[in-house]
Amino acid sequence: MKLLEERIEKDGQVLGENVLKVDSFLNHQVDPMLMDAIGTEFYQLFAGDKPITKILTVESSGIAPAIFTGLKFGVPVVFARKHKSLTLKDDVYSSEVFSFTKQVSNKISISHKFLNQADRVLIIDDFLANGQAIEGLLDIIGQANASLAGVGVVIEKSFQKGRAILDQKGIKVESLARIKKFADGKVIFVEE
Ligand code: 5GP
Repeated sequence: MKLLEERIEKDGQVLGENVLKVDSFLNHQVDPMLMDAIGTEFYQLFAGDKPITKILTVESSGIAPAIFTGLKFGVPVVFARKHKSLTLKDDVYSSEVFSFTKQVSNKISISHKFLNQADRVLIIDDFLANGQAIEGLLDIIGQANASLAGVGVVIEKSFQKGRAILDQKGIKVESLARIKKFADGKVIFVEE
């Protein structure tokens, strides 16, 4: 997605070997016009398939692109919660996820109320790195006996193992920006 690649080139900051900071439009401050375009793009990529009943993501950075995608499909958006709150009781599906950026393990949970076997789910997330966050959501979808339409990722770091893991499972993955590598603080995209 050209608009997104240009924005990454303009505002993204490469941190160390393998982290991209995009806090001016996605991870802290959010650009709703860009999110709107992202929602439209995901809609075009996944709308041709069987009907999608729900968008699933993980709090907090997946929520913005997920909401705009849900808006285009006209379906609810459910975000897995990372911390057990008093209002999130025992009737939940849970999975353990190792956070790439924070280097800690988190339990993510979704209430039984918001996912069941009648659902056909599209997963949306901000980044795909080693695939842990998405594997956690796949685990939860399995527990709920729901089915998966595919995975939409805003920024994929193709040099990390997440994409290969999802491809091996035969899952339809659509990434709007695919990063081949970082070189001298610059982002090099995969040439399609
Ligand atoms: P994974 O579970 O695929 O290893 O990592 C995905 C999650 O880690 C994303 O939901 C995102 O929050 C975070 N993440 C992974 N890589 C990056 C990165 O380069 N930059 C930022 N800002 N977040 C990342």
